[in-house]
Amino acid sequence: MHTEPESKYNTWESNEDIQMFREYLRIPSVHPDVNYDECVEFLRRTAAHLDLPVAVLEIHPRKPIVIITWEGTEASLPSIVLNSHMDVVPVYADKWTYPPFSAHMDPEGRIYARGSQDMKCVGAQFLASIRALKNQGIRLKRTLHVLFVPDEEIGGTLGMKAFVGTEQFGKLNCGFAIDEAVASPDDTFMLFFGEKTRIVVNFIIPGTSGHGSLLLQETAGEKARKLIDRMMDYRNSQQERLDNDQELTVGDVTTVNLTMMSGGVQNNVIPPEFKISFDIRVAHDTSIDAFEAQLQKWCEESGGDIHIDYEQKDSLIELTKLDETNHFWMAFKAAVNEMGIAIRTHVCPGATDARFLRELGIPAVGFSPMNNTPTLLHDHDEFLHAETFLRGIEIYKKLITAVANA
Ligand code: ZN
Repeated sequence: MHTEPESKYNTWESNEDIQMFREYLRIPSVHPDVNYDECVEFLRRTAAHLDLPVAVLEIHPRKPIVIITWEGTEASLPSIVLNSHMDVVPVYADKWTYPPFSAHMDPEGRIYARGSQDMKCVGAQFLASIRALKNQGIRLKRTLHVLFVPDEEIGGTLGMKAFVGTEQFGKLNCGFAIDEAVASPDDTFMLFFGEKTRIVVNFIIPGTSGHGSLLLQETAGEKARKLIDRMMDYRNSQQERLDNDQELTVGDVTTVNLTMMSGGVQNNVIPPEFKISFDIRVAHDTSIDAFEAQLQKWCEESGGDIHIDYEQKDSLIELTKLDETNHFWMAFKAAVNEMGIAIRTHVCPGATDARFLRELGIPAVGFSPMNNTPTLLHDHDEFLHAETFLRGIEIYKKLITAVANA
């Protein structure tokens, strides 16, 4: 096994930014029922250390929104929001090599913790970048608001979604935002500029009921099978698109997954109804209306009388434009080019808090500076290498400076 010399390890261990990162990681802000008190206390202390004002908003009790502000020299200009969420997803602690809230650093410099990639790294790097810029005596034109929000991992309803509807959010006068992406296993960096549209649909399928020994016509089971076939055929068509085009990622196609099936009372009774649920994420090249009409048609072809109940149907949110109409992006891109790093731009396959900003027409990109790192968000043994973390601070310094001076 390759092990870094001890001197390197000691440098990482005594690094102020890495210490701050590991301290944040040790706070178990984990679902369900997160207690954010320790995060708020940690952020207040860190902001004080940076000599920056901090505001803590509780739109909903126990769901704090923390705003750390670095005022720009032209504070009347639209500001830059640097957003991260404080919560992390649950762990299967017995599957981890090191305790998931220990922030253990192994001899090679890998820091193990839930949240090390998703996304306490980003929040810590935003603050570390500001510290470095301030120490260099630099002042930026636009104001930076570093946001730390709750509950992203459970949909952000009482977090970012609630916050963007408040007067306080309006007062931030946000012009551009940076939020999260994911780690990239190769040399390139991943950047998200939009998200798909989520639809959760329940099909209520009625049918002829009776004794399990008969061959009754139009049973719920037969109808369900036909409908599932159509949904899965569509799923296959999307898989084929992915397989046949190297340029596409899962963010570019529609995903369809059967997530729940219920019904029946006893194994010799043909039930009068089955319910099946699908989680669908519609790609940007597909019209939502046309997709819904297709679902309706498949229901009719599967035997009729099938009721469609939309448990969730998000509205279409425009992608953030990555062209010359977006001067923040042009500044961002110029900084990327200057650093000589390679970025892959994609539609995010899942959902992040950035969608609430895009919904207001605010351009937002997801960018977590982690390359050559296995994608371990929500997985066991989530880790980030100390070197990757430190390089990320350098990258953010350049990007933040560019967009704040745009
Ligand atoms: Zn996240």
